[in-house]
Amino acid sequence: METLPLSLLNDFLYCPRRAALKIVEGWRAENKHTVLGDIVHEHADLPGYEVAKGIKLLRALPVFSDRLGLNGKCDIVEARSQEGQSGLEPSHVGSYKSLVPVEYKKGKRRQFENDDAQLCAQALCLEEMFKLPVERGAVFHAESKRRREVVFTPELRTLTEEAIKQLQRLLALEQVPPAEFKPACEECSLFKICLPRVTSQPASLRRAAAQLFET
Ligand code: SF4
Repeated sequence: METLPLSLLNDFLYCPRRAALKIVEGWRAENKHTVLGDIVHEHADLPGYEVAKGIKLLRALPVFSDRLGLNGKCDIVEARSQEGQSGLEPSHVGSYKSLVPVEYKKGKRRQFENDDAQLCAQALCLEEMFKLPVERGAVFHAESKRRREVVFTPELRTLTEEAIKQLQRLLALEQVPPAEFKPACEECSLFKICLPRVTSQPASLRRAAAQLFET
């Protein structure tokens, strides 16, 4: 099974075509949302750790799951150590009593299924790596500076694992699915590459439009 980047799950739940355009055809593009997202991640992207109020904050922690075929990184993992353990090594299995992944997002405090599933996938990776249940995480919204707790319920875990399987199936086909024009398209960084208003039309209309440009 091919190992997929964790962030692609977020793309897939935003729009399957977006995930396929990125991984099958290799498209990347920036818009104001991706640039703001990069700025928000600047600090969290620096690997290392710091300690705040007795909690170790592991930054840019690489994570993986062999079972799910995923790899990626967690922006921040809040790690509480076992009694008498310093847990200095981030990969030291058994040194932590709890781990809480925190994902940084650029927007206001809102709830998105794709963000929650991405965070849940991080938790599944941490559980496999550290042999420890990870029950909750948080999304930190930079614009509102609010933190939203996410509980990894059985429903969210099922949704996440099911989405990972669907993503694996989609990518095994090595095809980009047709566009479906929707409000989210306006904020998508691949809008100008995807051209959803045109590519969501039936094939006959797309052919007619192409002929118009050819004449
Ligand atoms: S523009 Fe719309 S259809 Fe195209 S990849 Fe983005 S979200 Fe998907």
